[in-house]
Formats: sequence, structure tokens, C-alpha cells
Amino acid sequence: MKIVTIVGARPQFIKAAVVSRAIEEYNRDRRGGCMIEEVIVHTGQHFDENMSDIFFQEMSIPRPRYHLGIGGTSHGAMTGRMLERLEEVILREKPDAVMVYGDTNSTLAGALAAVKLHVPVAHVEAGLRSYNMRMPEEVNRILTDRISRWLFCPTAASVENLKNEGFCIQDGKRLFEHQPVVALVGDVMYDAALFYKKIARPSQEIAELIKKFPDGFYLATIHRAENTDESVRLQSILKALEAIAREIPVVLPLHPRTRQCLMVNHNQLEYVHQIAPVGYFDMITLLSHCRGVFTDSGGIQKEAYFFGKPCVTLREETEWVELVEHGFNILAGADYERILAAESRMRDKRIDTLIDLYGSGNAGRKIVQVLLEGVYEHTAY
Ligand code: UDP
Repeated sequence: MKIVTIVGARPQFIKAAVVSRAIEEYNRDRRGGCMIEEVIVHTGQHFDENMSDIFFQEMSIPRPRYHLGIGGTSHGAMTGRMLERLEEVILREKPDAVMVYGDTNSTLAGALAAVKLHVPVAHVEAGLRSYNMRMPEEVNRILTDRISRWLFCPTAASVENLKNEGFCIQDGKRLFEHQPVVALVGDVMYDAALFYKKIARPSQEIAELIKKFPDGFYLATIHRAENTDESVRLQSILKALEAIAREIPVVLPLHPRTRQCLMVNHNQLEYVHQIAPVGYFDMITLLSHCRGVFTDSGGIQKEAYFFGKPCVTLREETEWVELVEHGFNILAGADYERILAAESRMRDKRIDTLIDLYGSGNAGRKIVQVLLEGVYEHTAY
């Protein structure tokens, strides 16, 4: 069985690392079952050393066979170029399935290229919705789900979203053979956190930074287009973080897009401690030592929970609604007052991480199992 895995952006490397490891484990111990060959394609959406290479090294992700080098352009141009190049790759590799992750332009381009060649698509992190169509990610995920053969859902809420959109699921099973498979497998990012926290060693820089703040610090990240592209929102978030940082240090690993916006707007941060984007091991270390998290990232909202930290989300809505329902996450948008109020509500709040919200840390293995059961069903060349 051959699977083409398409990745391009930071969170996808982390998610794909989990499934690649599950594939390797399966191949080692397959007891007569068919071998799985995985061909990784890197579209090039994120390409810097600290946004891409470091994840491949730390997480032992197999080297991509193809590197398309497509990034840094508008959504339409990027998706269009990827579509063209991915079609060539799929035609050459003739895989039994194409695997895509999350909600980036690489996800949509990969799914679209595959489905048009009648290659079935497996979507990892299916069914998530923000119900905000202005988010490029929302468009990517809705379209990808619609054309996928396997929809691997991380949460009960994501399964419900698909049901509401007309996917027929009864007791977790499809009603008819021709329907897509919707499988609640848990969150691969939870698998990643559980596995890598056992082996993660921080860089010297991060180890020293943590020592500098013996009374703890907050961790913040900002990168969503809705915040970076609207200077009023960005200014308001930064003003709030600056106010908080006067009392409790705030560490901000700066996404390249945010750094660019700060330069354009001539923003100077006096109190917030900015650092370059860090690798996953450093991120895990920061998450496990911080007092709480301020973020507009999807992945980091959950990681805050995995590491038992309260989270203030700098958005108006979230796909990870279960965290808000349990009071582990507060939506504060980009509003100065709301962010400060959320900080005081969340300060030193205890988080119960024993509630089973994201599966049991074996989502990767479950995905491989489901694919093995059905991958040959609909292969067409
Ligand atoms: N991350 C990282 N270093 C950083 C910032 C984020 O390793 O400097 C990791 C983070 O721990 C999470 C993933 O990148 O696993 C989230 O990526 P991002 O916030 O870019 O995307 P999103 O989850 O919003 O799609």
C-alpha cells in the first residue's frame, strides 16, 4: 500500500510525525499484513530552519521525497501552483491514498489534486468548524472534508459538525458503502504531546530563559491573519500583553508573519519578551513551565490543556469548543479590556486534564488501522 502524505506548514509537521511513526511501528510488526510505503511531499508553505527543518529533525519525520518550494504568495496563487505540482506527483507515484492534515492551502490543494485523479483522500483533523467563513482555514477545511474518503475526527464536536452538514453517521458507522468513513480517532496532537514530552530536551537558550523567570511566566503566540492583518486588533492585543507583562513576564515566540507586521507598523515592545519561533521540544518545555497561555493558535489552545495550563484565546470563536465549555479556555478576542479580565479570571486556575476530550493518545495507530481496513476499496486508475 502506498500513501502520499502532503504537508507544508508547521502544525502539519507535528501531526504528520505521529502518523508516520504509527506507520513505521505497523511496518515493523505487521505479522504478514501488507507493507505501507509513505511518500512525503513538502509543499514549502513554511520553509525556514525554525519553521520547518527543526521539526523533521526533532520528531524524526522521514525526509520528504518531494520539496515543491511553493510559498510566500497570495492564497489563490499558492493553492493553484500547489494543485498543479501535486497533480504531477500523484500521477507519478500512483498512491492508494493521499493523506492531508488540518486546514492550510496545502491541505486543500492536496485533497483537490487527489480527488480529481480518483485517488481517495484521508483528512486528519476533519469536522472542525469555526463557522467564520472569513478565515481561510475554514474554507479549506469545509472543502477538504467534502471531498475526503476518510474523515478522521479529533473530537465528539467535530463528528457532530459533520452530521449537521449531512454526513450520514449512525453509531459511528456509515450507512452505505459509497459514503465516506467518519472515524472519531482522537487528536494526533495529543499523541504527539504524550510521546515527545518524554524525550524532549530544551535548547540552552530556552533552559536559561526559564531560569530567568523563577516566579513563572505566560506564553503567548499570535499569527492568525485576522489579528496580524488588522493593525487595530494587533495593537490592542499587544497593548494588553504589555500591560500584563509589567506584572507577570510574557514570552512571545514571534511567527514570521507577525514579526513582519510589527516591523511595518514600527511597533516596539518594551515589556513582552520576544524570541524567534522555537522548535517543538522548546515549545513543550515552555508549555510545561508557563503559568498560562495567550494565543490565537488552534494547536496551542489544546496543548495548553494537555499541559494543564489555562488559556486565553485571542479570537472571537474557536474550533475547540469543549475547552471553553469546561472553562479551561476563555475567548477574549482582540479587546484590551476583555484580555485583561480573562487574565485575572484565569490566573493560577487549576485545570483538570483527566477529562477525556481528545482520545487516549493512540489516534495515529487508529488512523493506520482504519486505512488498512479500507484503502483498496476505492482505488481507481
Ligand atoms: N509551535 C512551535 N514553535 C513555536 C510556535 C508553535 O513548535 O514557536 C507549535 C505548537 O506547539 C503547535 C503548533 O506549532 O504544536 C501550532 O502551530 P501554529 O500555531 O502555527 O498553527 P495552528 O495550530 O494555529 O494551525
